[in-house]
Amino acid sequence: MALSHGPLSTSASSTLHVYSHHALIGHKLTRLRDRRTQPAQFGQLLKEISLMLLSYATANLPVRDVSVITPVGPTTQRVLAKRVGFAPILRAGAGMIPAAHELVPGAPIWYLGLYRDEETLRPVRYYDKIQEYPPVDIALILDPMLATGGSAVVAASRLKEKGVETVTFVGLIAAPEGVSLLAREHPDVAVYVAAVDERLNERGYIVPGLGDAGDRQNATGVNDPTDDPFIAEPSS
Ligand code: URA
Repeated sequence: MALSHGPLSTSASSTLHVYSHHALIGHKLTRLRDRRTQPAQFGQLLKEISLMLLSYATANLPVRDVSVITPVGPTTQRVLAKRVGFAPILRAGAGMIPAAHELVPGAPIWYLGLYRDEETLRPVRYYDKIQEYPPVDIALILDPMLATGGSAVVAASRLKEKGVETVTFVGLIAAPEGVSLLAREHPDVAVYVAAVDERLNERGYIVPGLGDAGDRQNATGVNDPTDDPFIAEPSS
């Protein structure tokens, strides 16, 4: 895997882009990791980092020339030449959809519901709206965490089965294990993440990571400390 930034190198052939050197992405990611960050702020930070990463991930989309007339005169400029869609992996990937909508308004959003079997740590598909119509040439998988890589591999396979030519993965934090699996199974899938962390723990969580990205967005974690009166335990 060719590495555009950051510390990880592997022998597979796809491209890993890591933005941990980027001051603003690093700053926002640190606040996102902080266990004191509450769900509303977590969602906002997730959107902001996703916007930045998606902007990098779409920088080299194919373009074609078109003629336009500005108030000053005619000119030839560029527009996207391919149809773009997004495949958020539920639940956590849903938090990246607002950024996708903002950057590519009207792009198809294909939800893919996968949960991780607690014992095998393998992905189980429970919802799948990946489809042939409307056609999409380039699909970006959205999932904040590239942990074991199992979900990303399933998502990339489903998108290719449905005729998508180019698949890209965009997430926040990756584990080396997930990067390696995705590169082995889909060496053509480019990966854009804010950071590559140390490892997975025995429960499949990224270390140090940020915990469960779905729980952190949706206020469903059991141990999160909070002084938010909307979600704090009622005092008896
Ligand atoms: N999914 C998460 O939400 N967090 C992890 O650390 C790994 C997978």
